[in-house]
Amino acid sequence: MKNNNISILGAGLIGSLLGVYLRKRGLNVSIFEKRSDNRNDQYKEEGRSINMALSHRGWKALEKVGLKEKIEPLAIPMYGRRVHDEHGRTSFLPYGKDQQAIYSISRGKFNQILLEEAEKEGAQLFFDHKCVDVNIYTHQIKFLLPDEEVKRVASDVIIGADGAYSSLRHAMQKQVRFNFSQEYISHGYKELTIPPNAEGEFAMDPNALHIWPRGNFMLIALPNPDKSFTCTLFLPFEGTKVCFDKIHDQRDVESIFKTYFDDAFDMMPHLTSEFFKNPTSALININCYPWVKNQCVLIGDASHAMVPFYGQGMNSGFEDCDILDDLLAKFGTTSWELVLEKFQKIRKPDTDAVCQLALENFIEMRDSVSDPKFQIRKKIEAKLHELYPKEWIPLYTMVTFTSIPYTEAYAQGKLQDLIMNKIMADPLITQNWDKLDYEDIINQVETAKAV
Ligand SMILES: Cc1cc2nc3c(=O)[nH]c(=O)nc-3n(C[C@H](O)[C@H](O)[C@H](O)COP(=O)(O)OP(=O)(O)OC[C@H]3O[C@@H](n4cnc5c(N)ncnc54)[C@H](O)[C@@H]3O)c2cc1C
Repeated sequence: MKNNNISILGAGLIGSLLGVYLRKRGLNVSIFEKRSDNRNDQYKEEGRSINMALSHRGWKALEKVGLKEKIEPLAIPMYGRRVHDEHGRTSFLPYGKDQQAIYSISRGKFNQILLEEAEKEGAQLFFDHKCVDVNIYTHQIKFLLPDEEVKRVASDVIIGADGAYSSLRHAMQKQVRFNFSQEYISHGYKELTIPPNAEGEFAMDPNALHIWPRGNFMLIALPNPDKSFTCTLFLPFEGTKVCFDKIHDQRDVESIFKTYFDDAFDMMPHLTSEFFKNPTSALININCYPWVKNQCVLIGDASHAMVPFYGQGMNSGFEDCDILDDLLAKFGTTSWELVLEKFQKIRKPDTDAVCQLALENFIEMRDSVSDPKFQIRKKIEAKLHELYPKEWIPLYTMVTFTSIPYTEAYAQGKLQDLIMNKIMADPLITQNWDKLDYEDIINQVETAKAV
């Protein structure tokens, strides 16, 4: 088998960036996308988040192919969470130190630029090509075109970057010993907007991720370059006092917003019409293995779709591209079998860890952040990190602002959690947190690591 012709299924964020990477390695790359070419349209895909948080792992992968400078002007830094309580009071929780930030970026524009870069590098783009089947043994891909025409393409390597409902994964699922599980969580989401204010300015501080945590549900808002905010409302689908199933009309929407998100309500003139126009979308976690069969490989959401509560889905997918590229650099583009085998072995434990972190972080976002003790906990961790930057790195920092493998971050985070739980059990901690013996805490970490 020759190894030069690569077909990427899906021209989303991961497929497009991977196209750039593989062209830079001199391979013949074709990218097949089921959607039409809407690069000149105002992009908004129904029901999908229109802005997202880009952080260290994503930036690193972009920088490696020279795209960081191109993307920077599109990104708005968010230095922390601005937490809104039920009375409209806010408090600010920094994400890290030294002005560390995550960056709000519009999915549509970002995707468009990555695709253009892939094309500029020489990738061939095929829109309106819906992959409906892949023969993993003959390497034939079957596409359905808009007029019901069927097209077949053969390829040396097939990469499924076609998202959570991947067609390549579907073909792999027919194989024996392919493990697959999916879980829809009890909550769904709906996107809403806070437009610019009457002066045409941001209605709130643009350099924060705004969050209205309300126990079992929450609202968040991320800034856009046009001075609006995209809000995402996360609610249970059914079974609780506040859930999507119980919202039937304008009165229901207004009543929920006035009760729980009053300060946001005042900034949302189109709330009701948007609420009933925009879809309610589900959130899925996908776990599968192996990712590789006969030079076909899954990447990004196709292999590890996760819930969005750590802001790592896209970032981890970009890191997939970075790691795959390192392996191609090391073993060469003619050794795909070896490269892909190593890729899945290295990457699977890490993406399992980040999927788990994403599930766990939902509780922190919707509940804990509003607890004053949680804020003290964060202050203690920040101080530990300031005094002992190598010995104590808060979990959020490891995941978001470093390339420490997710498995290591997860294990270290659990160890730190145990120590913090003990510290927080002190009933006087709110008064005494600044007088703790920080050296002793670090000694406890070192002892626990040695065990
Ligand atoms: C509400 C929400 C908020 C999020 N926020 C963040 C965030 O802040 N930070 C972050 O890092 N991640 C975030 N994510 C996760 C992020 O959106 C995904 O991880 C990322 O989009 C995955 O990219 P992908 O290219 O693998 O898949 P997708 O983005 O799903 O792209 C897949 C592409 O394949 C195409 N396709 C699908 N099927 C076929 C087919 N049969 N044939 C041809 N083409 C096909 C699709 O049209 C699409 O273009 C969020 C997700 C959600 C739902």
